[in-house]
Amino acid sequence: MIEKRDFYIDGRWVAPANAHDLDVIDPSTEEVCAVISIGAAEDTNAAVAAAKAALPLWSATPPAQRLAHVERLLEIYQTRAAEMARAISLEMGAPIDMALGDQTAAGVWHISNFINAFKDFTFLRPLGDGTPGAMIALEPVGVVGLITPWNWPMNQVTLKAIPALLAGCTMVLKPSEVAPLSSLLFAEFVHEAGIPAGVFNLVNGDGAGVGTQLSSHPDVEMISFTGSTRAGIAITKAAADTVKRVCLELGGKGANLIFADADDAAVKRGVRHCLNNSGQSCNAPTRMLVERPLYDRAVEIARETAESTRVASAHETGRHIGPVVNATQYEKIQSMIETGIEEGARLVAGGPGRPEGLNRGYFIRPTIFADVTPDMRVAREEIFGPVLSIMPFDTEAEALAIANDTIYGLTNYVQTADGARRNRLARQLKSGMVEMNGQSRGAGAPFGGVKASGRAREGGHWGIEEFLDVKSISGWAEN
Ligand code: NAD
Repeated sequence: MIEKRDFYIDGRWVAPANAHDLDVIDPSTEEVCAVISIGAAEDTNAAVAAAKAALPLWSATPPAQRLAHVERLLEIYQTRAAEMARAISLEMGAPIDMALGDQTAAGVWHISNFINAFKDFTFLRPLGDGTPGAMIALEPVGVVGLITPWNWPMNQVTLKAIPALLAGCTMVLKPSEVAPLSSLLFAEFVHEAGIPAGVFNLVNGDGAGVGTQLSSHPDVEMISFTGSTRAGIAITKAAADTVKRVCLELGGKGANLIFADADDAAVKRGVRHCLNNSGQSCNAPTRMLVERPLYDRAVEIARETAESTRVASAHETGRHIGPVVNATQYEKIQSMIETGIEEGARLVAGGPGRPEGLNRGYFIRPTIFADVTPDMRVAREEIFGPVLSIMPFDTEAEALAIANDTIYGLTNYVQTADGARRNRLARQLKSGMVEMNGQSRGAGAPFGGVKASGRAREGGHWGIEEFLDVKSISGWAEN
């Protein structure tokens, strides 16, 4: 049993102000695998005070030195990657190979991309030609609160903590209480990297407690949040009285528009992408829209792909999918599968209950619904499990209308050999990201959405700028 009751505050591991244990459950076995503490206001206040005290020095530290700290942190992260993968796999159920090759690797990718983006980043820039003496200064926002979810834990933590460090902000991280082990390990890496005391602090807790305390804290200037739209709204309200910057990365219901000229591989790739991480990705292409001539074939490929997707314990090696994170998510997904059936969607693969041979652990059968209509709940709500909804379309205009008819706007996908159609749709889809013909985002590209998916931008120089205030200066003395 792992015991990790302490918080990382002001460069030290400290016991919580009041004992309040929380069990961490291994989703593959439903057994308690670790115990952490749930923080109280005293803990939050101590962490914010440490971050506030560290701010003058860290924000004045030359950017090259901050960069050197982050480079050191990357080295440690890479050296201890196997440990990180074990923590992620245990806490949220990503199969161990995927936890290393995708989940942990996402952190390496983001840290490396931020390092590259920072190399030619300037904090003081001329406004432009024809405006002598006019300068733009980018200045750290101050103390920031980072609130992260459990589904891609290190992806999210590195997308927030690294740009905050580079920008010169000091911070308090509150990771998901469901998957806190990877963040506790990340705090060890920060310590080992010699990042000065108080710059990075970690307090475990829940949304109602530490999450809300950070969101409403007068000394916290900004909240960077990834998680559900529900919590994003609550945070925005809690932050209103102190006029914080609130950056939100929320849910999604991505559409994957597959035209008749796309090949079988495009369909298969779309299904696999939806099932990846047991469907627990905000940018998953969970609505597959297929042009009528390809429709029956696409449904058949989806059925084959789902039925050949192995579901097994996160502790086993291999490219299977693992359980979903916890009992709450398990129940929610089961109920959405029942809803799809009741609404009249055609169940093509999977369905309620656990996969054969698995009677313990939060395992879900990879599920495919065909003949879904845009008004069904399985077409509208984020299920956050391995469940795909397929629907036919006849024209490009119809496909576009269905794709955009959602409260979300994170990532949409297009599969067609017709380049002009791709480019047209890329501009018409209402989402922060559009990925076409299987090409994923380039290094340093901004990640983020529109509408109820939140409007933050993470990654690359956009991600660093989120943590900076823009100051407009005139009368600057020329040298
Ligand atoms: P969640 O919103 O329940 O929790 C996320 C984090 O917010 C946790 O740390 C939680 O403790 C905290 N929290 C919850 N309520 C809060 C409140 N009122 N005030 C402050 N903090 C609060 O989400 P989850 O179940 O952990 O994650 C799944 C959700 O996250 C999905 O909806 C998914 O789409 C979304 N997500 C979005 C992105 C993105 O980048 N857009 C990435 C990953 C996950």
